[in-house]
Amino acid sequence: MKQELEWFNQLTEQLLQVEKDEPVAAPIPTSELANRLDLELNEDPISDDEFFASLQDLVMSTPRTASKSFFNQLFGGRNAKATLGELLATMLNNSMYTYKVGGPQVAVEKEIVKKVAMAAGFNNDFGGTISSGGSMSNLIAMLMARDKISPEIRFKGKDQQSLVAYTSKASHYSNKKNASFLGIGLECLRLVEVDELGRMSAADLELKIKADIDNGLTPFFVNCTAGTTVLGAFDPIREVTAVAKTYNVWTHVDGAYCGPVLFSDRFKHLVDGLETADSFNLNAHKMLGTPLTCSVIVVKDKKHIYDSLSMEADYLYQTDMDEYNLGKTSLQCGRRNNALKFWCLWKSVGTTGLADIVEKQMDLAEHARQYVDSSEYYTLYSFKDSISICFNYKDIDPIVLCTSLYEHAELMVGYGSYNGVTFVRLVTMDPRNEMTDIDAFFKTLEKHAAKYELTPVLAG
Ligand SMILES: *Cc1c(COP(=O)(O)O)cnc(C)c1O
Repeated sequence: MKQELEWFNQLTEQLLQVEKDEPVAAPIPTSELANRLDLELNEDPISDDEFFASLQDLVMSTPRTASKSFFNQLFGGRNAKATLGELLATMLNNSMYTYKVGGPQVAVEKEIVKKVAMAAGFNNDFGGTISSGGSMSNLIAMLMARDKISPEIRFKGKDQQSLVAYTSKASHYSNKKNASFLGIGLECLRLVEVDELGRMSAADLELKIKADIDNGLTPFFVNCTAGTTVLGAFDPIREVTAVAKTYNVWTHVDGAYCGPVLFSDRFKHLVDGLETADSFNLNAHKMLGTPLTCSVIVVKDKKHIYDSLSMEADYLYQTDMDEYNLGKTSLQCGRRNNALKFWCLWKSVGTTGLADIVEKQMDLAEHARQYVDSSEYYTLYSFKDSISICFNYKDIDPIVLCTSLYEHAELMVGYGSYNGVTFVRLVTMDPRNEMTDIDAFFKTLEKHAAKYELTPVLAG
């Protein structure tokens, strides 16, 4: 590997430099990919020099998600310790299904699950796993709830449409996919109304649950979001679980985006009542900034994760107790070690360091909101306590603006919509940024709009 490690160092050093000098890679139109990059796989081998050159071109043409101009999605930045953990996980190449092949890495994952469960207030019989993302964590949650209300589905399949799930209109689209995967059916996923701040209405949830019961249906699952994907709103967990418990319905808290607020004394009130839920997940690869992907799902009573996910396989589980054979609580068979990167981060900075990350992002967001709010040229659509800052500038079409910024390689920022309005969504995800970087974001955007004479939609 000596040669490859040298290449690796060379490419990473080049990448780190170019991230500073040209924070946005010039995008390649898909129609030109084949001409601009040597991507084709051929019959014959190539020389090391040719190989390195192709790889280098590819790396340098790839979107730079760790640069100071990347505000596009709910991930970004680069935490050095977490990246080290990720690189080592690749070198070690364990599979996390058994203690026999995962060894102490299994205990690393178990420690993370335990500490997240504790932070969530799931103290005694908790269980959990690290999944490949928030969508999969939400799938596991809905699956556990389905199997709890109807244990025979696992054996006989589902033959009638009577189970009903609930999630807010502003929740992540994985809830829809999961309802379809699990045989619940998209038509049996109710979209609950939200209030003016984008939070689920517990009153509407109760109305919908009652109506379904009156119609002979069986409510079994409600998904409550801690940080909705567009606005970053926090559903009122305590109110939702109170309604859910009355009707024997499972409450899952989807904290894929903003669940990590629970580590901060300043912000954990946003997930007040979390301990009353049945399951909870957070993505370490969003707010906490580990490399993609790392999602932790915890459940209050571990019985449910075993009931839904364990299956005997004597060719696999040959030693040790199930407690250390994590394949018994996983959707997958072979599973990469997504724990080590999160552990490296957490171990190095402590839980107070995780809180610092969250608080820095919230402070950057507050700064951005104040900037938007204090200028007559901007309209603000998002609210406080959110690291998504949704705005429009001079009524310029946000799709035109974001696309132009990307095509001219100036900024990577995305747009979103809510209640029929489309806006730019700035996400202050990278805790390495400073207030001045946020100011620079707005200045770049403003200069760009002037330079390219982007005009308001309603102009003239
Ligand atoms: C991003 C997100 C998800 C999905 O997580 P992935 O890791 O991308 O699958 C689920 N829920 C919410 C609220 C999210 O923001």
